Amino acid sequence: MSLSTTIKTPNVTYEQPLGLFINNEFVKGVEGKTFETINPTDEKVITAVHEATEQDVDIAVKAARTAFEGDWHNVTPSNRGRMLTKLADLFERDIEILASIEALDNGKTVTMAKGDVGAAAGCLRYYGGWADKITGQTIDTNTETLTYTRHEPVGVCGQIIPWNFPILMWAWKIGPAIAAGNTVIIKTAEQTPLSGLYAAKLIVEAGFPPGVINVISGFGRTAGAAISSHMDIDKVAFTGSTLVGRMILQAAAKSNLKKVTLELGGKSPNIVFDDADIDNAISWSNFGIFFNHGQCCCAGSRLLVQEGIYDKFIQRFKERAAKNQLGNPFHENTFQGPQVSQLQFDRIMEYIDHGKKEGATVAVGGERHGTEGYFIQPTVFTDVTPDMKIAQEEIFGPVVAVTKFKDEAEAIKIGNSTSYGLAAAVHTKNVNTAIRVSNALKAGTVWINNYNMISYQAPFGGFKESGLGRELGSYALENYTQVKTVHYRLGDALF
Ligand code: ADP
Repeated sequence: MSLSTTIKTPNVTYEQPLGLFINNEFVKGVEGKTFETINPTDEKVITAVHEATEQDVDIAVKAARTAFEGDWHNVTPSNRGRMLTKLADLFERDIEILASIEALDNGKTVTMAKGDVGAAAGCLRYYGGWADKITGQTIDTNTETLTYTRHEPVGVCGQIIPWNFPILMWAWKIGPAIAAGNTVIIKTAEQTPLSGLYAAKLIVEAGFPPGVINVISGFGRTAGAAISSHMDIDKVAFTGSTLVGRMILQAAAKSNLKKVTLELGGKSPNIVFDDADIDNAISWSNFGIFFNHGQCCCAGSRLLVQEGIYDKFIQRFKERAAKNQLGNPFHENTFQGPQVSQLQFDRIMEYIDHGKKEGATVAVGGERHGTEGYFIQPTVFTDVTPDMKIAQEEIFGPVVAVTKFKDEAEAIKIGNSTSYGLAAAVHTKNVNTAIRVSNALKAGTVWINNYNMISYQAPFGGFKESGLGRELGSYALENYTQVKTVHYRLGDALF
């Protein structure tokens, strides 16, 4: 199979790389394997890409190690920053192509995909700015010693990303790792390998030396497992399910105790109080769960509504959900495209069936949409009790579980009643309620009177079983640097 192909989308025709990107070149896998990627809108094969197996991971790690121990070390922080900034510019130049790839391979709408590409460029540029601002401290220990710290790169970073925001997750991982002076091997999700490979082409254009960023396509149980258990990878960053997050942590512990950061699942409560601005709360709650077809780790999948506003709110929320336009991601008015894969579609439909059997009421949706593609109707379950499976487990689809609550204490109790702690939201006009409740919620992010607003300048990550460490902002740099303390003796020998 060749190393690139021409792909036609309704918007653009472009050249798609298909190989593994190692040492700034696209190559075939050692075992010569390939796998197909499917368009979730029509269930047809888009193309096949070359597949990385354990040996390819090894080759990529060697490339990243050689770069790390070699010339990359001598590239000044400012020049690292310039490369990231240039990469950001190239993302913006090719926004139509990158957004079209996302729509084709993932099923998200082109409009939303452009938002992802813009945010990815912003993230790369933001970390480009950080590259020459990473500093240690001088510490006044005593007059005869100069003590200082250096924030050194960790080394070779293995990064495993999911399919729900392919290009955005790529940028979240690459930006801070490179800013801090590391080298990278990144594995895209097997459902959505195309945008990461296209971005790999831009790495060369941005001027990165060979081996600094390596991009491979492959499966979790083979290439992903090879990364998490590799003896020469110093750090692994993972975004995906809590189940796989546990495996990664175990593999890291069993191999070389590589540093681990995990951004995992969620079952985030979106709490609407009686005194909320109802129009605002409806818009954000709709966006909170149905944005990206519910395929967000921080989705507002539990909607908790106070009893005084409940009937009015739910009536209008149902009307709003039913109006979300489903269809072809390339059409301008589409809000919701297909789920990413048959497997995800089946998992979500199983949860919907389970919700029906558990005794929750389907207030909106609850069925497949159309006959082709992995489309699922926006689904609102009411009469959900906090112990139900649909209120406890991450569904990762356009399904929201609605529960009524009496007062603030009950909202907090239900809000904190899952094993997750990624995000939460509070809708109220009362500032005291907003602050009190956001302080009490066990979540890494709390939105007040909005939802899903994430900035690359601010940290993102989970409490409880939603993860380890924080991505984005200056906080992410801590994951990609290690602190060295140097004591320089100025005085005479003491002993
Ligand atoms: P989902 O179930 O939504 O596909 P996963 O957590 O399985 O989410 O996948 C997220 C990423 O983790 C993907 O890149 C996938 O290939 C990878 N992955 C899956 N299983 C493993 C594993 N055992 N070890 C390492 N990576 C894995």
